[in-house]
This record gives sequence, structure tokens and C-alpha cells, in this order.
Amino acid sequence: MHSTSAGRVKLSNYLNGRWSEGSGQGEALIDPVRGTELARASSEGTDYTAALNYARHVGGSALRALTYAQRASLLGRIADVLAANRDAYYQIALENSGSPKSDAAIDIDGAIFTLKYYAREGSSLGENRILREGSLARLGKNEAFQSLHVGVPLRGAAILINAFNFPSWGLWEKAAPALLCGVPVLAKPATSTAWLAHRMVEDVVEAAILPDGALSIVCGSAGDLLDHVRGEDAIAFTGSAQTAQRIRSHPAVALHSARINIEADSLNVAILGPDAKPGGALIDLLAAEVVREMTVKAGQKCTAIRRILVPASVWETVTEGIHARLSRVRIGDPRSADVQMGPLISKPQQRSVLDGVHQLAQEGKVIFTHGGEFYPHGVDPEVSAFVSPVLLAHDTPLNARVVHEVEVFGPVATLLPYRTLEEAVSIAEMGRGSLVASLFSDDPRVIETLALQLAPSHGRVHAVSTEVASAQTGHGNVMPMSIHGGPGRAGGGQELGGLRAVRFYHQFSALQGPTRSLQSIAGRATDLPL
Ligand code: NAP
Repeated sequence: MHSTSAGRVKLSNYLNGRWSEGSGQGEALIDPVRGTELARASSEGTDYTAALNYARHVGGSALRALTYAQRASLLGRIADVLAANRDAYYQIALENSGSPKSDAAIDIDGAIFTLKYYAREGSSLGENRILREGSLARLGKNEAFQSLHVGVPLRGAAILINAFNFPSWGLWEKAAPALLCGVPVLAKPATSTAWLAHRMVEDVVEAAILPDGALSIVCGSAGDLLDHVRGEDAIAFTGSAQTAQRIRSHPAVALHSARINIEADSLNVAILGPDAKPGGALIDLLAAEVVREMTVKAGQKCTAIRRILVPASVWETVTEGIHARLSRVRIGDPRSADVQMGPLISKPQQRSVLDGVHQLAQEGKVIFTHGGEFYPHGVDPEVSAFVSPVLLAHDTPLNARVVHEVEVFGPVATLLPYRTLEEAVSIAEMGRGSLVASLFSDDPRVIETLALQLAPSHGRVHAVSTEVASAQTGHGNVMPMSIHGGPGRAGGGQELGGLRAVRFYHQFSALQGPTRSLQSIAGRATDLPL
């Protein structure tokens, strides 16, 4: 299949260097606006032992024969192929994810940007095939015998399991560091939105950029994929905390101590500093950011702001600011150019968000919604998956439970008052580890104190002052230069962060031996980046 209108086609799987279809009916991919079936995906009958062995032996050997710089240049070529086919991808994102152009751009252009970034950064690793960490260390009195730490690419496969909300970026932000390190990729996109990842892989395969076996994809459920994992493989997972738990405790993963990186859900906070004044720019900046985070991708972003902490003194002004902006957001069929917020991804997600709002409303108070009867003009409520943005408030956040425990994966956030900075940090920490916290303050003391207080429980802290209002990259935007991943419930993982990402795909080993041999090896290795 190679079109922007899949019809009732089954997405084939690219394994063992060839395309083949899974057996059975497969699962349907549905247009969340029109309710029509777009394609089917099936992984039934897949021989994962063969597929992973092919990736490990054929793909891995060929990739490892190349240098870092050569592999970096392959990433650049992948980015070029994706850029050339961008229009087709936007159409798929529209049909399969109900994405307005601006939402599709985050996923599609975000992927191309990330690939280009790793192409550029990766080239700085040069024409070597191994890394070294630090310099030779003497182990005893005699200088003839020393130690050197080296990093060598894993000999297994990178098994990339992704969530439904970023079928493009989710794939390439993981694949770029893996391929740069010489580790072949087996991608398993979320079934409901697999079409975009499938089409991209199809384009890259057709362009014959990568060595045989370096890139595989399976669409449809994971089946017994994890039974075939071995110690030399690396699993990079993004998705819900429940699935993360299942993967972590999978017998084969545990038995072989396979590497896992988990990116799970998160109850991210935005904190308005105590220096914010009614009529001042900070309140406006916070309100704009909150509304952007609630409505971009209809709030289906792991980094979206879920909890908004504001000083009690400016509560009214903040509420009014967010309210006014939310009421102006145009929600509807993303086929209309003026639509800003589309539907959720599916009917089950719609049910899950409505259920989550109900739970939040048991403890808090709904202060903005278009109402239960709300539905955008011209779409059929029976088949489409729209929800209204919902803003809630909770007066005593230190006594709340649901708002700190339930991630509602949609356009939903809760306002929480705080009295002191210590209290703001305590409230933020009740999320038990998140991907990102943002701060809005013009007081350097507040920024510095909060940043360092929040860093232990957040993978990223994003501070915005009036001065950087136009330069800041956005609370929810994941930039490849910065770490993505958070402790605790966020999964405890770390992706991206520039060339830090290469660590996950290398095995580090302490070589102890004759100084002359170690010096020779060190001469053929690149210094481990940061
Ligand atoms: P999900 O249901 O956990 O699924 C994620 C992926 O895991 C899908 O590809 C799914 O395949 C696969 N999967 C399910 N069961 C599996 C198993 N037993 N073994 C191996 N793979 C399995 O999550 P989702 O509903 O797609 O995504 C929404 C969640 O992801 C939210 O909680 C959100 O916060 C989180 N998320 C986190 C990040 C982050 O970077 N931290 C980013 C995006 C989303 P099928 O689709 O075939 O079931």
C-alpha cells in the first residue's frame, strides 16, 4: 500500500528484509472524525525469533561496519526522504489521527527536525566505531598495566514500542539515536495510528538508504514479541503506566536483564511565580501556555500541563484569562482550515477522558466546559470522538488525591492554589515524578529556587520570564537537545538530551591490559559525549 487513502487495505509488516501481511482480520484503524475504517493491521503469525535474529545479525552487522559519521549521514538522508513526502504524511495524520495541520506539524516536522539534529550532532562523533570514557587509569604501581572504559554498540536490536499520539516523532526520536549507534530497529507503533509510521518506513525502505535488516516494522498487537527479547536487545517503550508495568515484569525481559527505557504518563505542572501581578505579562504568558497545552493535539501529549499552580492572590485573574482564551478555541473537523482543535484519537479514548473528568469532578469543581451537550458543528456525535476542553479547580490541593493520581489524556487541566514556594513544590511532588514542570516568573530567585527544588522529581524544568517570552520553546515541546523522560510514575526513563542518548545503545566495558594496547584502542575511539 502506498497511498494517502488506505481504503480497506491491511498494513503489511516489514520484517526479514521483506514485506508480508499478518494473517487474520487484523484490527481496524478508524478515522476519529468520520468513523470510517481506513485500514487494518495484523501481526498475527509473525515469527519474531526470525525477525529479531535477522535484525541483529544482518542489520546489526552492516550498521556496525559503518562509522558514527557515516550512520549520521544516513539519518540526514532519512530526514530528506521524509521531508519530500511531507504532504502525504499530513493527509494521513488528518485521516487517522484527526490532526489539524498545526498538530500534524509537531509530529511530522518534529520527527524531521530530530533526525536532522542527530545527523548533525552524530557527525561530530567522527569516523570511529567505538567510544571511550575518560582516559587510561593506572591500577597499580606499574604503568605498564592500566584500565580504559570503552563503549561498544549493542549487538542486539532496538525494539521501539510507541504510543498512539506520536506515530511519527515517537518512532524517529527513538530510531535516530539507535541507528546512529549502529543498532538495528524493530518498530512497533500503536495499532490505532500505525498508518503514518508504516508509510514513513515504506518510503525509507523504498529509498534504499539503510542496510538490509536495519529497519523493520510490525503493525498490529505486540503478540509474543517480548518472549523473544534477549540480553543484548534494548527496549524503548512509550505508553501507559499499566503497559509499562507489564513490560518491566515480562519474564523474558526480567530473565535476560534486557535494557528498558520507559516513558510513561505524567501529571505535569505549570507554576505561576508569587511575583505575578494582575495586568502583568506573566499571567498572560501562563494562560496562553495552559490553553496551548490543553488544546494542541486535544491534550493528548504526555508533556501537557495537567496541574496549574497559582498564588491564591491572583486566582481570579488567572481563571478569567484561561477562560477567555479557552472560549475562543475553534474546535471541529480538522478538514476546515480554521479549526484549532480536533477530536481525540478514538471512541475508547473519548470514553476514557469523559470518565477521567468525572473522577476529577468528584473532588474538584468544573469551572470551564462547553457542557455535556457540546458538539462541534457538522460532525456526527455517534461516530466521532470530540470532547470539550475542561478546566477544573481544587481549593485544597494538599488534601486532594485524584488530581495527583489520574492522568486524563485529553484537553483537561486543574487549577490549584498555593501559598508558599515550599507548598508549591510539595504539591508538584504529589504527582510522584513527572516529565516536565514549567515556571512563570520574573524573579531570578524564584526561578533558581524552584528549578533546583523541582529537578529531583521532574525530567525537565522549563522557566519562562517576560524577557524570554518570544524565545522560549514551549512547556510541552520536546527538544532533542534536552532530556525527555522523568522519574517515578513518568517511567524513570531518559531519551534524547543530545548525544547523551547514545549511552543507552552502548555496552560499557572496562578493558584492563597492557598500556600499549589500550592506547591503541583509545586512539580509535571517540570521547563519550557528556
Ligand atoms: P498503551 O496502551 O500503553 O500502548 C503503548 C504501546 O504499547 C502500543 O504500541 C501498544 O500496542 C503496546 N502494547 C500494549 N500492550 C503491550 C504488551 N503487553 N507488550 C508490548 N507492547 C504492548 O498507551 P497508548 O494508549 O498508546 O498511549 C497513551 C499513553 O502513553 C498515555 O498514558 C501517555 O501519557 C503515554 N505517553 C507517554 C509519553 C512519554 O514520552 N512519556 C509520550 C506519549 C504518550 P497496541 O496499540 O497494539 O495495543
